[in-house]
Amino acid sequence: MFGTGGPVVVYPSSGTGAWEAALVNTLSPGDRVLAFETGHFATLWREMAEGLGPVVDFVSGDWRRGVDPAAVAERLGADEEHAIAAVLVVHDETSTGVTSRVPEIRAAIDEAEHPALLLVDAISSLASIDYRHDEWGVDVTVGCSQKGLMLPPDLGFNAVSEKALAAADRARLPRSYWDWAPILKANERGYYPYTPPTNLLHGLREALLLLEAEGLPAVFARHDRHAEATRAAVRGWGLEVLCADEHAHSSSLTAVLLTDDHDADAVRRTVLDRFDMSLGTGLGRLARRMFRIGHLGDLNDLTLAGTLAGVQMGLQLAGVAVDPTGLQAALEVLRAPHDDRDEESR
Ligand SMILES: *Cc1c(COP(=O)(O)O)cnc(C)c1O
Repeated sequence: MFGTGGPVVVYPSSGTGAWEAALVNTLSPGDRVLAFETGHFATLWREMAEGLGPVVDFVSGDWRRGVDPAAVAERLGADEEHAIAAVLVVHDETSTGVTSRVPEIRAAIDEAEHPALLLVDAISSLASIDYRHDEWGVDVTVGCSQKGLMLPPDLGFNAVSEKALAAADRARLPRSYWDWAPILKANERGYYPYTPPTNLLHGLREALLLLEAEGLPAVFARHDRHAEATRAAVRGWGLEVLCADEHAHSSSLTAVLLTDDHDADAVRRTVLDRFDMSLGTGLGRLARRMFRIGHLGDLNDLTLAGTLAGVQMGLQLAGVAVDPTGLQAALEVLRAPHDDRDEESR
């Protein structure tokens, strides 16, 4: 799932806990950290890092684009003393539906010949969008259970590189519950240093069996296709997708921007009241200006078609003028010949 042959630490925790684990195992008080304002979650992770003691260099953004690899190269190139200890990236910004290109960010770090660790939040991309911890040279990948893994909340993950393990030996932020070392040591013998979340671990096994049966490449292809169909609907309605970079669209969710004369939360309320369907709200600075359509996890073509039909009717009922051929455009994407099957099962 992570694309790694290395260890994955599993916590009974939210994704936020796994964020903290990634930071406290690798950083020391006063360390500098480079982070990028891609949206609400990147902003929260930055605030957490600052609260723990490191100094964060936060590159501002407009919430419609991913991390610019050129900005990574520029900031690291200017850091001649190598004071920056880590680069923080949110792979799939769940608040905006925008992804960042992790391999290009890795290449920028390498080109600057900078030793900073690369810490990536893959919470809403894991098992939905192609992700490769080892191949992309990520040092810590943060995940959790309640997004593409289709589980209830409260399993947190840290996939950890050799370099991150070595950094953990030197890192001096206080840590106890989040400390990788005692967990990895106990795991070697099949144990935990405390009571493990056994119920969720059984659920995880089932989720992994489902993903394995479909095949991860097929899972990714399905998500890509559903995202494409959703964008076709949004554009067909005459509305704007928030993501402003054609190469950065998320395959796990789509954020729909409304014009200023409409309250996106009123649309959400209508859809919930009439069709019992919950859309994502606009977070942070995007509150009331947009809503988010989730299309990750256990979804098939018909579930997505129903979802988009509900959104279209909700928009119409809430008085947003939309072109009803939007739904038709999505159905055409779904109906088009395709082959999501895994190469191996073909
Ligand atoms: C959901 C989410 C989080 C937070 O996870 P919690 O389990 O709510 O703490 C962090 N980052 C991203 C990208 C997310 O989608």
